[in-house]
Amino acid sequence: MIDLKQFEIWFVTGSQHLYGEETLLQVAAHSEEIAKHLDSKAPVKIVFKPTVKTSDEITAICREASASEKCIGIITWMHTFSPAKMWITGLNLLTKPLLHLHTQYNRDIPYSEIDMDFMNLNQSAHGDREFGFMMTRMRKKRKVVVGHWQNTSVLKQIIDWSRVAIGKHEMNHLKLVRFGDNMRHVAVTDGDKVEAQKVFGMEVNTHGVGDLVAFINQVSDAEIDRLISEYEEVYSIMPSLTKEGAKRSSLIEAARIELGIKNFLEDGGYGAYTNTFEDLHGMRQLPGIGSQRMMASGYGYGGEGDWKTSAMVRVMKVMASGLAGGNSFMEDYTYHFDPVNPMVLGSHMLEICPSISSGKVNCEVHALGIGGKEDPVRLVFNADKGDAMNVSLVDMGGRFRLIVNEVTAHEVNKEFPKLPTARALWTPKPSMEVGCQAWILAGGAHHTVYSQNLSTEQIEDFADMFDIEVVVIDADTRIRSFKKELAMGDVIY
Ligand code: MN
Repeated sequence: MIDLKQFEIWFVTGSQHLYGEETLLQVAAHSEEIAKHLDSKAPVKIVFKPTVKTSDEITAICREASASEKCIGIITWMHTFSPAKMWITGLNLLTKPLLHLHTQYNRDIPYSEIDMDFMNLNQSAHGDREFGFMMTRMRKKRKVVVGHWQNTSVLKQIIDWSRVAIGKHEMNHLKLVRFGDNMRHVAVTDGDKVEAQKVFGMEVNTHGVGDLVAFINQVSDAEIDRLISEYEEVYSIMPSLTKEGAKRSSLIEAARIELGIKNFLEDGGYGAYTNTFEDLHGMRQLPGIGSQRMMASGYGYGGEGDWKTSAMVRVMKVMASGLAGGNSFMEDYTYHFDPVNPMVLGSHMLEICPSISSGKVNCEVHALGIGGKEDPVRLVFNADKGDAMNVSLVDMGGRFRLIVNEVTAHEVNKEFPKLPTARALWTPKPSMEVGCQAWILAGGAHHTVYSQNLSTEQIEDFADMFDIEVVVIDADTRIRSFKKELAMGDVIY
């Protein structure tokens, strides 16, 4: 798990010199109290900053925030009026995400005591409007959260957004390695890696699979023994893979591959990777359990060279760090078109992350018709039921589009005796028919990030932080208006 307290969000209060020293002291005290309250509740560090009262002070804090390695975003609040022309230069320099907290120190109007001094101090109702105007006039994407700062819903929105800001920071710094190229002829998993670096900051580079094989071949027997003990502790191992089993050598080879991948990624500082069954020269198995476990430990993964999904798996895992539930590479595999109970069977030939499992995880080895290698070891389990979503990042040629489809996942209570993979069953919202229709109209990929613990709003905020298009398919989606939304996206972007 990542230590989220290493990330700072700066709490910046705007004011001006008009009201005198005493008012400004109160502004500072209130701001510090709010910042401390938020810091005590948030997974990240919320850092109180001195009130900014002039153009120079605003410019300085925006420049400092943009340059800081620790600062991943700022929260702004105008306790009093803060004339917004003072903010123009600073906001032009600001490169970090901004949350505009539209709150007020006092929750209630103190009817019997309120006078003009009180009114001059508690001006956010109009001070924040002045600030909001300037952000809108400058066409700056930002989050606006409204309500009293002690309100639990306000707190939740700030925390959710702070996790998204962590995701942006991760995307900006991500190094992704592709072992080999994309699966031949496939369109949606490909894309413009130069544009991806320009927009997201992430580096996407290729290594020949031989470079990985060199790491796999260097793994020691002692390392393999230790990892297999871990397998035996955590999973139910099928009899043929146990110490006396006929397929024990497959488990040893799988462990060697996992350690090779792990060592390669650590050595290169990579947070995510892809591979493809079409390029496995020098490897004896297609990595199954290895890729599943790398995902479970927080790495991004995409099958068949799908680097965009791999990056999103990594970023969403970082965003959700420490939360219950999981995030996995996923594929819409097969349909259940029963009109009473229509569902998608989500799976992959091997590489689904056990963080989404409902409980028991089995470690098994079976033949795989694709890839032409030895039988791969894999983790077999069912995904948990509940609300979830699928997220896809596609390259539209000239721009990126994020697509979200909220789904309802069902308990997997059927046996799949001849399908030894991970399995998830869900129904897209608003319905199988409309959900899949909208997904296909939006150009959503067959690969997704399947998330049990992030929200649609967080993906929308993530898209806003990069100023890219996002389309949402949820309970309210109607095809006629959805088509108009897609057409509008073509015009806007
Ligand atoms: Mn696939």
